[in-house]
Amino acid sequence: MMFMATKAPTAPRPRSKKKSASSSVGKTGKLAMAVEIKPRAARSAASKSKGKSSGKVTKMVFSWGNRKAEGDGTMKEILGGKGSGLAEMTLIGLPVPAGFTITTQACAEFYRQDRQWPRGLEAQVREHLVRLEKTCKKKLGAAKDPLLVSVRSGAARSMPGMMETILNLGLNDQSVEGLAKVTGNPRFAWDSYRRFIQMYSSVVVGLSKEVLENKLHTLKHSLGIVNDTDLPAEMLRQLCGDFKMFFREQTGIDFPQDPWKQLHGAVNAVFGSWMAEKALTYRRVEKIDGLIGTAVNIQQMVYGNMGDDSGTGVCFTRDPSTGENQFYGDLLINAQGEDVVAGIRTPMQLSELSHKMPEAWEQLNAVRSMLEAHYKEMQDLEFTIERGTLYMLQCRSGKRTPAAAFRIAVEQATKPLLTAAQAQRLLKKKYLPKKYAKLVTKPVITKDDAIQRITSTDIERLFYPVIDPATSKSDLTQRQLATGINAVPGAASGQIVFTAAEAEQFAAKGHKVILVRKETSPEDVGGMHAAVGILTATGGKTSHAAVVARGWGKCCIVGCGVLHIDYERKMMTVNGRSLNQGEFVTLDGSEGIVYGGELPLVKPELPPEYYTIMQWADARRTMKVRTNADTPYDAANGIKMGAEGIGLTRTEHMFFDTEERRMAMQRMIVADTEADRRAALDQLLPFQREDFIGIFKAMDGRPVTIRLIDPPLHEFVPHEEAKQQELAKRIGVPFEKVRQRVSQLHESNPMLGHRGCRLCITYPEILEMQVRAIIEAAVEVTRQKIKVAPEIMIPLSIDKKELGLLVEQTRRVAESVLEAAGVRVNYLVGTMIETPRAALLADQIAEVSEFFSFGTNDLTQMVMGLSRDDAGRFLPDYVDKAKAAIFDEDPFQSLDQQGVGMLMKWAIEKGRGAPGKRNLKIGICGEHGGESASVKFCHALGMDYVSCSPYRVPIARLAAAQAAIG
Ligand code: PEP
Ligand code: MG
Repeated sequence: MMFMATKAPTAPRPRSKKKSASSSVGKTGKLAMAVEIKPRAARSAASKSKGKSSGKVTKMVFSWGNRKAEGDGTMKEILGGKGSGLAEMTLIGLPVPAGFTITTQACAEFYRQDRQWPRGLEAQVREHLVRLEKTCKKKLGAAKDPLLVSVRSGAARSMPGMMETILNLGLNDQSVEGLAKVTGNPRFAWDSYRRFIQMYSSVVVGLSKEVLENKLHTLKHSLGIVNDTDLPAEMLRQLCGDFKMFFREQTGIDFPQDPWKQLHGAVNAVFGSWMAEKALTYRRVEKIDGLIGTAVNIQQMVYGNMGDDSGTGVCFTRDPSTGENQFYGDLLINAQGEDVVAGIRTPMQLSELSHKMPEAWEQLNAVRSMLEAHYKEMQDLEFTIERGTLYMLQCRSGKRTPAAAFRIAVEQATKPLLTAAQAQRLLKKKYLPKKYAKLVTKPVITKDDAIQRITSTDIERLFYPVIDPATSKSDLTQRQLATGINAVPGAASGQIVFTAAEAEQFAAKGHKVILVRKETSPEDVGGMHAAVGILTATGGKTSHAAVVARGWGKCCIVGCGVLHIDYERKMMTVNGRSLNQGEFVTLDGSEGIVYGGELPLVKPELPPEYYTIMQWADARRTMKVRTNADTPYDAANGIKMGAEGIGLTRTEHMFFDTEERRMAMQRMIVADTEADRRAALDQLLPFQREDFIGIFKAMDGRPVTIRLIDPPLHEFVPHEEAKQQELAKRIGVPFEKVRQRVSQLHESNPMLGHRGCRLCITYPEILEMQVRAIIEAAVEVTRQKIKVAPEIMIPLSIDKKELGLLVEQTRRVAESVLEAAGVRVNYLVGTMIETPRAALLADQIAEVSEFFSFGTNDLTQMVMGLSRDDAGRFLPDYVDKAKAAIFDEDPFQSLDQQGVGMLMKWAIEKGRGAPGKRNLKIGICGEHGGESASVKFCHALGMDYVSCSPYRVPIARLAAAQAAIG
């Protein structure tokens, strides 16, 4: 079941699009004509099918039904998520209507052949259709008791609502009468036919969906009817006539009556939807690549619209918002599947099924537990009940909020889904097989599985904002505009916009926007992504808006019935109040409340399961995680996030902190004698010492790596004349001298210029002041009985002799301070590996260094020859899947493991291979230290620690544990 699209193309798809579409598929996937089919049942099925067809043609169609299936759950890439799920559910004995899947490879080949069916596909589809007809004992579109099918898309990755679905295929002017007779329910038959004509016209032929919807609404309005279900058969028959007339007017041909033609058209439409704009946008936004196409699932129809003993639903095996162990979802009685997700009718809660159809409810509960035990994951299910009998139409891993992700992982690893009594009850009723009755009363995953399941995005999104609890109740009450369904928790404030395009435009200009729609549809995903929050007038918790927003962890309220949107006038009215585009609202997605104005937001409490997972992860990982911190505040924050030390303190940040500090620094730079420079440095010393004392105290004995000055000096002095005049006046030197000094400091390529340890080769007194400040601070805290472990780090070294000189000087200063103080402090002196030469000659560098820390920002810059400062202008093209797609990720975000990584591996081997350096301490402090894939790579290289900004520390802790688990 897919979300209904609200906008269909109004004309046949243009040829130029086909061309570009097919060429882009050609780029991504080469179709191997001999598919290797590994899964259980498929191998024999594949060889049987080979015999029947030409002998060379790939197997492109896989059947399921009657507890047998040619495919299975392992074949997602070929059968898509839906197809492999249907096959797997069939194999584990769940009630699944029979059908067959056309593979994703057939879709890829369709594009390669300029939208033609690949050779052999027609024969295979016809063969499997006959097989399906035999299984169902009905013929597709037969005049008497017709077999009807659904035709649904399904790629290997879930793309909710992005592609097409056609239901009730096989109905025509004769078979509709047959269906009416055999079911004794003409209303149902004609309702199904009008749905089919409507879907076929818009999805396959591209006629306006709105026109047909309007015809339906006008008819209901003229009869004073609110619900579709109240339309009598005769009216529906008339409506079908109307629809067909419209079809003829628009296309010049009659609505297709031949079931095979209908099927052919529907399959083409599903294939075609793979390259529709909305699907392309969704894949871009979700960074889905590497897929070759969509599969097409053709399945016997079951009917949720056969009366009050029928219905349809979408549900989750656990609450996808909180993760609570309760069966959760939406249900519509007497309706077909797309009604639920399209948000046309507001559904009832799934639990109501227990009163309305108790047996179907019990059955569904058994299915829920079997699927969780089988997949060991929370599942998102679609089902239909036809006259009291349950049928499963889809299962897949369910999208969830980040808080739910943690809770589900922890509970699945520690608690059973059902109590023994619940399992026994279902067993007795024979809804739950014995094997499952045991499984569902035990935890289904291990702690390691739970750790592996959490993603870095889950962690990032845990830090959802909420409305500041300090906001007064009366203020909130006054501001309350409306309430709706709390689809995705968190809070968001922003300016309202009413179209996805405007959301994107406003956001591009830096505005925070709330996208307000009657309902959202897949065309809106770009704008939904750009918005900070989403508000819709209709729909339930599984509507398009809710599902998509949840996947992104984006605050969302749906079903806000009092909302009246005037798209033309770009305004909305809520309970008598009008708001224009651009006005602020605040959404509380946890409570489902809309407030007027911009309310202050704060970050929330983390769920208890977050701490449990992080505790498990810490116990499992072997690599340490430190934080990059320049202030005592950052240091304390890093500790709160679980850091075990500081991997990088950028001391130059301390010089920018206050006007006083900046001035002392500038005086030092402008000085032209050593004596003047030393006088200025003497002013800086106490500031640095104080900062280091604060950091050491915050870290309480944990290692603290302090890097000596790194940036080129010109970064500290003003470049505009007026500011230079001001500086000259303040520090009491002639303006001309300041001007000259600044111009002297100018470099054509400062990143490769006078920076890093080169500064201390030229001005040893800078090193002297910084080392003195570090060691004096260490002495001070030691005297206060606080443990301290400083690691003095020399940046940007390129040579053993260069580093040797600086290390020697560092030790000389440190020892003299310690000796004078009469205090012993253990400290290390090491270097950053940031230049290719240092990495290449790491064995020599290691001889004079007590530790290495990879500065992968600079190392990436220098190994790849990509400027850190300028690459932003062109590097996106290197990563953009629609452009050059040279790299999967920006190498400044995720380590270039092949190139930069190769040099790191070399440097580690060389460094630890130097005499007496087998245990050389090695870490990383570039931005990559907080990126999941890079952290895993660092673990594989045998690093001792990674270091990253405080908020990324949990991501690194988790990634390190995942790497250790393997
Ligand atoms: C690096 O180069 O990776 C690093 C940490 O130093 P900076 O970013 O300060 O140059
Ligand atoms: Mg650097």
